[in-house]
Amino acid sequence: MKISCWLALIIVFLFQLTCTDHKSKIPEKGVSYQLNERRKKTIDSIRYNIQLDIPGKKNESIKGIETISFNLNALDSALVLDFNSDSTHIISVQSEGEEIEFEVANQHIVIGPGGLKKGHNTLTIGFIAGNLSLNRSDEYLYTLFVTDRASTCFPLFDQPNLKATYSLTLSIPDGWEAVSNGSLKSKTSRSGKCVFQFAETKPISSYLFAFAAGKFFKTEKTVKGRPMTMYYRETDAAKVNRNKDEIFNLHAKSLSWLENYTSIPYPFEKFDFVLIPSFQYGGMEHPGSIFYNESALFLDENASVNEKMARASVIAHESAHMWFGDLVTMDWFNDVWLKEVFANFMAAKIVHPSFPEINHELRFLLAHYPSAYEVDRTAGTNPILQDLGNLKNAGTLYGAIIYMKAPIVMRQLERKIGGKLMRESLGEYLKNYAYSNARWDDLIGIIDKKTPLDIADWSNVWVKTPGMPEYTLSNEPKTKYSQKQDSVSNRTWQQTVGYKDVKLGQKRLYFPNPDGIAYGYFQMDSASTSYFFRNYNKAGDSVLSKPVFRGAMLVNVWEGFLRGDGPDAEEFLKDVLLTLPKEKDPLLTDYLLGRLQSLWWSFLSDEKRNKYQSEVEKVTWNLLNETTDKGIKKSYFRAFKRVALSDDAYQKMESLWNKTLVVKDLTLSEEDKISLAYDLAIRGKGDVKAILQTQLDSTKNPDRKARMQFVIPSLSQDEAERDAFFESLKKPENREKEAWVLDGLSNLHHPLRSGSAIKYLRPSLDLLQEIQLTGDIFFPTRWTNTTFSGHSSAEATHIAAKFLHEHPGYPYFLRNKVLQAIDMPQRAARLKR
Ligand SMILES: [Zn+2]
Repeated sequence: MKISCWLALIIVFLFQLTCTDHKSKIPEKGVSYQLNERRKKTIDSIRYNIQLDIPGKKNESIKGIETISFNLNALDSALVLDFNSDSTHIISVQSEGEEIEFEVANQHIVIGPGGLKKGHNTLTIGFIAGNLSLNRSDEYLYTLFVTDRASTCFPLFDQPNLKATYSLTLSIPDGWEAVSNGSLKSKTSRSGKCVFQFAETKPISSYLFAFAAGKFFKTEKTVKGRPMTMYYRETDAAKVNRNKDEIFNLHAKSLSWLENYTSIPYPFEKFDFVLIPSFQYGGMEHPGSIFYNESALFLDENASVNEKMARASVIAHESAHMWFGDLVTMDWFNDVWLKEVFANFMAAKIVHPSFPEINHELRFLLAHYPSAYEVDRTAGTNPILQDLGNLKNAGTLYGAIIYMKAPIVMRQLERKIGGKLMRESLGEYLKNYAYSNARWDDLIGIIDKKTPLDIADWSNVWVKTPGMPEYTLSNEPKTKYSQKQDSVSNRTWQQTVGYKDVKLGQKRLYFPNPDGIAYGYFQMDSASTSYFFRNYNKAGDSVLSKPVFRGAMLVNVWEGFLRGDGPDAEEFLKDVLLTLPKEKDPLLTDYLLGRLQSLWWSFLSDEKRNKYQSEVEKVTWNLLNETTDKGIKKSYFRAFKRVALSDDAYQKMESLWNKTLVVKDLTLSEEDKISLAYDLAIRGKGDVKAILQTQLDSTKNPDRKARMQFVIPSLSQDEAERDAFFESLKKPENREKEAWVLDGLSNLHHPLRSGSAIKYLRPSLDLLQEIQLTGDIFFPTRWTNTTFSGHSSAEATHIAAKFLHEHPGYPYFLRNKVLQAIDMPQRAARLKR
């Protein structure tokens, strides 16, 4: 039985009229902690059966019908379902086949106790699926429901601790593929469409439910008895063939490793993955159906060791989530960091043995510490474990503190209690809470029982308070480096800070944290810094030639520089230029080139850039040509095209781009060519329109072509055209492809154009709250970071400071994002020489 749309509209309207008196009973938007707790107490045994009819055209609506069965153990209040879409999208609500009364308000469907009974209930809801989290393109769509976005698509109890089973049926255009968490049960034809019916899943959290459908290529492989299917869009068959076996093998290796470490077999029914162009993250861990950013897995021919390692790491990371996050899930999203830290922690353990040529201590150092410090040194930093009053704000919890600092802290915990005890504790944790939920303090409880150490106190400082400790050289002979006065009183950071010392004449030089393990800012004096650079990578020296030592000192010097506590920008640039030829390690080379570019664009005045232009171009160009390592060559290529400004360098870039110049062993992929074309355009020396048109015409991949078409106006030499591009971003529909928007923003705000981009800053901040509502979870951070990345003027940071001043009640999380984004421009404005 189905009632017609107009009747439903009237019913909804009437209920809205009659229920205005009971507004106080309507829950607030999103899922508040109270609603979460109440539902957890009163509802269990939830099963969703969802049918969606997906049309071929992306602007046609998706009709759905679902059956929710659940057990209700109290009838003292109304039942609240989450549905964050247009209220007219609810067509009918039935209980056990009978129409029942309901109300739609504040992104919820509220059903009075009259329509329900104690014990087992079955609701059937007809609806139009909301598009907000369906990422619909002409040829495909995919869901991304983290954190509470499932309710933008269909009605449900959208909170992680109400795990449920999902049975999905998709009716899709002929010729499309479809994939979801459950395995494919049947595929039939019905009135010109194809119907995919998926098997019921194991109990999973709502943010992990997923499906993708569309024109995907598909390839299957069984590795060590484990069948896997890969779905992808890449049209370059050679690229796919070059990568696919490695992608399957990396997954198989990760899963076996995890089964062994946890002593728990892969906990879900089947294992597939979908590679999506311009996917919002590196990957998303939907059980049985991981989604990845296609470009993170399909590497170019001359991919660097870093890129290979990053690929292995993202695969290991998402695979680890099958246990850490999917099998055992956080109870509430404030513990989201926990699944991320476990995934990173496991990924590091999994990936190490596959890359014996890499120095993993160094990699861990450079992959985590600099990014963590980038946030932790700012006024907008946050503790690892944060308060969260409503799930609608959960997206703002994500960031470098969760992804980068938390793994450092977890490694410290393992060092503190030992690897064996750690593994035992994690095993117990996974078994105790399988297919269920747990909190950080549940794990701390398990560990605390097994060790005499005070783990709770350690956790209170490192996990529950923000910021990083600072250490100065002390006269205390035993410790040598002592913690500076802390911003939080009586806070002691439990950690040991080591040092190396070198005797130089009458003087003794000190190098703090030489193994790069301790976390914080470690001050170095100018004599030690200067000695370090003069003797960089000195052959035969057991300390100076150690890569981890070099990495740790470079990080110390950079942190000192940013605090006005080291070399000035010009000195530092000279040090980096002298150091690069002495560095052959790819990770350290990348780190140095990153610092070179920051110094170059943010900390040097135009006049100084002029002074060093030819030298910087010469050093990077020569090293690009001289190095034999293909990965390092690519790094130098990227650095060269970013710092190049002279006519001569422009000629080189243009010749590389139009292939009249070839550097031995440097292969440029389509993406390299596109980014080279962009860099040429921003320099504005040639015929910008012709360059971009030529590149557009020669770009074969349709997704990259579409992305280029979107981005090109942001590169225009005509300021009015750039203004129009920025204006267009104010409409949410023009921000749907977030990766494209970020490309455009970084062009608009390129340091060479930062003067004309100042006027975009305030409107960009004015949009931020709306962006949080309409965009994906990482988007507010990326939006603000990219907006400010090219700026280093006091004028730019004043705009942000004024904005925050004018909005004293601005949401805490977003305020932090702004403070984080302007930290580097503020330091640059202060230190610019
Ligand atoms: Zn993750």
